[in-house]
Amino acid sequence: MRAPGLLALEVEEGVGSPCADLVVQLDGYQAAHAARWGSVETMGWTVRVRVFREDLVDGPGTLGGVTWWGDRVIDVYQHLPNVFPHDLHHVLYGQSSADHHGWCLQGFVLWEASVVGLDEQASLCGSDPSLALEAQAPQP
Ligand SMILES: [Zn+2]
Repeated sequence: MRAPGLLALEVEEGVGSPCADLVVQLDGYQAAHAARWGSVETMGWTVRVRVFREDLVDGPGTLGGVTWWGDRVIDVYQHLPNVFPHDLHHVLYGQSSADHHGWCLQGFVLWEASVVGLDEQASLCGSDPSLALEAQAPQP
């Protein structure tokens, strides 16, 4: 089954949600991300909805999604579909975004918290309080 936006969708055995529901959820998050950050070239990418969260660590303090640039795969934990925009952001900015550099300054972290309800401020901005303060500034 294919999600809109030319992403292929794979659902791991044991995931509790029906495929059709996952498509609707992920499509909604992709549309929200595109509305703020522009469309992301996802041709050839696959989203895998995974059973276990512990497998999905993409950096200090971030848990629930992983972007595999080489294989063009995004792994998303089944009970944290709102991590998907985080990984679309990795696709948008490429492999050099693996350290999340600038995600506070550009306002992504604040946007993520307010629009998709995933608050990563502590994990992605916590090492530098000025970044978190910057992220709280209103968007133009
Ligand atoms: Zn990340």
